[in-house]
Amino acid sequence: MGSKKVKSAWDKLRMSEKECQAMTEYLSFLSKGKTERESWQIIEGWARKAGFVSLDEVKLFGSGQKVCLEVRDKAGILAIGGLRPLSEGFRLIVTHIDAPRLDLKQRPLYEEEGLAFFKTHYYGGIKKYQWTALPLALHGIVILRDGQRVEIVIGEEEEEPIFTICDLLPHLAKDQNNKKLREAISGEGLNLLLGHNPSTGESEEERVKSSILILLKETYGIEEDDFVSAELEVVPAGKARYAGLDRSFIAGYGQDDRICSFAAWKALEKIKEPEWTTIVVFADKEEIGSDSNTGMKARFLENFIAELITLQNGSYDGLMVRRAMARAKALSADVTGGYDPNYAEVMDKLNSAYLGRGLVISKYTGSGGKYETSDANPEFVAEVRRILDDAKITWQTAELGKVDQGGGGTIAQYMAIYGMEVLDCGVGILSMHSPWEISSVADLVMMMRGYHAFLGYRG
Ligand code: MN
Ligand code: MN
Repeated sequence: MGSKKVKSAWDKLRMSEKECQAMTEYLSFLSKGKTERESWQIIEGWARKAGFVSLDEVKLFGSGQKVCLEVRDKAGILAIGGLRPLSEGFRLIVTHIDAPRLDLKQRPLYEEEGLAFFKTHYYGGIKKYQWTALPLALHGIVILRDGQRVEIVIGEEEEEPIFTICDLLPHLAKDQNNKKLREAISGEGLNLLLGHNPSTGESEEERVKSSILILLKETYGIEEDDFVSAELEVVPAGKARYAGLDRSFIAGYGQDDRICSFAAWKALEKIKEPEWTTIVVFADKEEIGSDSNTGMKARFLENFIAELITLQNGSYDGLMVRRAMARAKALSADVTGGYDPNYAEVMDKLNSAYLGRGLVISKYTGSGGKYETSDANPEFVAEVRRILDDAKITWQTAELGKVDQGGGGTIAQYMAIYGMEVLDCGVGILSMHSPWEISSVADLVMMMRGYHAFLGYRG
């Protein structure tokens, strides 16, 4: 401390050509993968190209075999067989590909005083005021009653319209300005502006709504009732890009946790004939507590391991599955709040994640007296330290904010249930959970290298 020069991941970073290329790929991944479905589709595309084969097409699971499992189109698992039998354990990185956003309600459409809107229900931890007066896009799917699937993306291409949620003009915001920040914009107030042209409407009343319904039918073949079986997500419109005069930041929506998903994929892509079977999970529903059958509280990872063990042994052996799970070593790959000098009062300087100082490990997350977390065992923390140091990774340790300032959990606790060793490991993000999150290029490079070192570590 004191006079000691602060370690920066930028010093001696020396990005390889492939790593520079990866930054461009990352920007494109963020720009195109704005929902869990879109993100998984992109990841699965990469995996297929790299030789991963769907689990139901695999006959044997041995060393070097690449297997892919899709979970309900919204999550997935990629695995590469190790030299050792799976029952001895495996190396695992778990990330999530869902992000805070606004979902359309199942009956979203209404008209009031000649303006048509979509009602929304926010998903995950958002600050509601951040979602007004900015360009928004609509991404998602509608499943018609007969099962037919309609995919929708509106607001990303230049020629497409965007959407917005209107804020109140400052001239009339006297009462609003006196409200608490979290009450100034209400959940029911997050309504998406859709249109105001009544001229094609067929009904006497609510002609704008009628016009919108005709437009939806003509363009997408969907009717008002079809929203009942739809998952339509309102996300910030536009592309991710570099930020800052020195281009040292990446700005984009959904970096929590797609930055870790991307880094984990990049790490896995480079793995060849690993000693331990290496697995990366891309989970859904983390932002709302990991429930649902695509979240980490569901058993798809366990079932996947059971399938692989069965392929490896020729028959199902429940004990081997349990052993494999309990002997696994895992990173819960998620982002954490980066230290922001503008909000210094909520951070403990000694235990904060600083942008540009590399990969972040967090022994525990949670809140209050370490509630709702997996507190990693020091033996495993030491092992990860060794792996990172041996691979010359710049890393730091952090917890999320000051004690009793708030907090938040990750997926780690749902992996710990199986007995596996698990440590939270990601990068710091500024403006986390906002429509425009900020990450560090150097940290992302360190994360790709660090995850690779962890997955490929022998011994
Ligand atoms: Mn996260
Ligand atoms: Mn989050």
